[in-house]
Amino acid sequence: SNIIAIVGRPNVGKSTLFNRLIGQRKAIMDNVSGVTRDRSYGHGEWCGKFFTVIDTGGYVHGSDDIFESEINRQVELAMNEADVILFMVDVDAGLTGLDEEFANVLRRTKKPVYVVANKADNNARMHQMGEFYAMGVGEEIYPISSQSGSGTGELLDEVVKHFKDEGIEDPDAGIPKIAVLGRPNAGKSSFVNLLLGEERNIVTDIAGTTRDAIHSRYNAFGKEFIIVDTAGLRRKSKVSEDIEFYSVMRAIRALEDADVCIVMLDATRGIEAQDVNIITLAEKNRKGIVILVNKWDLVEKETNTTKEFEEEILSRIAPIKYVPVVFTSVLTKQRIHKAVEKAMEVYDNKTQKIPTSKLNDLLLPDIERYPPPAIKGKFVKIKYVTQLPTHNPTFAFFCNLPQYIKEPYMRYLENRMREHFGFEGVPIKLIFRKK
Ligand code: GDP
Repeated sequence: SNIIAIVGRPNVGKSTLFNRLIGQRKAIMDNVSGVTRDRSYGHGEWCGKFFTVIDTGGYVHGSDDIFESEINRQVELAMNEADVILFMVDVDAGLTGLDEEFANVLRRTKKPVYVVANKADNNARMHQMGEFYAMGVGEEIYPISSQSGSGTGELLDEVVKHFKDEGIEDPDAGIPKIAVLGRPNAGKSSFVNLLLGEERNIVTDIAGTTRDAIHSRYNAFGKEFIIVDTAGLRRKSKVSEDIEFYSVMRAIRALEDADVCIVMLDATRGIEAQDVNIITLAEKNRKGIVILVNKWDLVEKETNTTKEFEEEILSRIAPIKYVPVVFTSVLTKQRIHKAVEKAMEVYDNKTQKIPTSKLNDLLLPDIERYPPPAIKGKFVKIKYVTQLPTHNPTFAFFCNLPQYIKEPYMRYLENRMREHFGFEGVPIKLIFRKK
C-alpha cells in the first residue's frame, strides 16, 4: 500500500491532520484497538487511491520537551516506511529551533517531503509562511488548517501523484500471497525459516515496489507462493526494536496485502484476545484464514485433546466457523507440509469461480425446500443466483423483494453454499438484488 508519514514537533497539529486524512475509514482500525496502545496509523482514500497514514509522533504525550533521539526516531520511521513524508510546522508559532532540527535530519532523505504549514486559517497568517522556505526542505509549502480541513485537498492532490494506481500490472498476479501472523513467540519466524530451509529455493526476491518489504517467492512442497512481509525475516531497523505499534502496523499491512492469512497460535497459551482480533480483522478484510496451533509437541495429549482444542478455538472466534485448524510443531516438523497445503487449498477455495448453472442447479432446490419466510403476507421469490466477477467471492441472489431477506435466511443460504461448494477458510458474501 501507499504510505504517508506525518512528522513534526509536538503540538503542531499532527494528530488532527492524521484524523482528517483517515476520515471515516477509522472504523477499520477500531477492530484492533487493544492490540495497540495508541491509534497511530490508519487508512485513507483520495481520488480512488488508498493509503496508510502513520502519525510518527504518537508516543510523545503532554510534553513539549523532545530530544534528538525522538526526532531521529520519528524521522527514521518515516524515512524507512513512508512513500511520502509530511513535515508539519505551525504558522502561528513561526519557525522554531525544533523545526530546524527536524529539517536537518529530513534533508537526508530522498523521499518526497512536503512542508505542511498548519493553522494557516487566515490571510495574515498565510503571509508568514515564507520563513519556512529557509529550512531548505521540501519543494513547496502547503498551507492548511487541519482543524477546518482547508488546504488538505490541494495537499492530497499532490501527494497521491506519488502513489501507484490500483490495477497496475502486478508481476505476482495469480501467485498466492500468504501472511504469517500471530503473537510474538508463537513460532512465526521459525515456521517461515523452515519453509525457506525446506528447499532452499526462493525463486525470486522481489523488492516491494515502494518499500523494503520482503516478498519472497517460495517453492516448498512443490507449491509456489509468496510470503508477505514477515517481520522475522527482514533486517531489523533500529527503530523497530521495541516499538510495538510498528510491528502491529506491519502485521496489518501484511494482512491487507495477503490472499490468505496463516494465524499462528502458541499451543501452550491457547487462543488469546489478540489472536481473535487478528482473525476478526482477516474476516472483515475477506481474507482466507488458516489457524495453526503450533508447539503441539509441548502439549500432553489424550484422546480428545485435538478435538477439544479445536472446539475451544472455534467457540472463541464465533460466529466464524469455517476456518481450518492445523496442529503443528515447527520444532519436530510435524504437519508443516499439511499447513502449507491447507493454505493453498484455502487460496483455491477463495479464487474458485462457480458457473451460474451449477450454482442454480444446487441452490434453487434448497431454496424451494426452505423458501424465505413471507413477510406481511408477501412472498419472497429468489429467481436465480450468480457469482459476481469480484476479487472476493460474492454471490448475487436476484429476487422480487430483496429487502425482505433477513439474517437467519442469509445464514441458511451461506451454510448451504458451504455444503455444496466447500469454501473452507474463506469468508463469502451474499447480496440480494431486485431482479
Ligand atoms: P515468532 O516471534 O512468532 O517469530 O516466534 P519464533 O519463531 O521466534 O519462536 C519463538 C520460540 O519458540 C523460539 O525459541 C522457537 O525455537 C520456539 N518454537 C517455535 N516453534 C516451536 C515448536 O513447534 N515447538 C517448540 N517446542 N518450540 C517452538
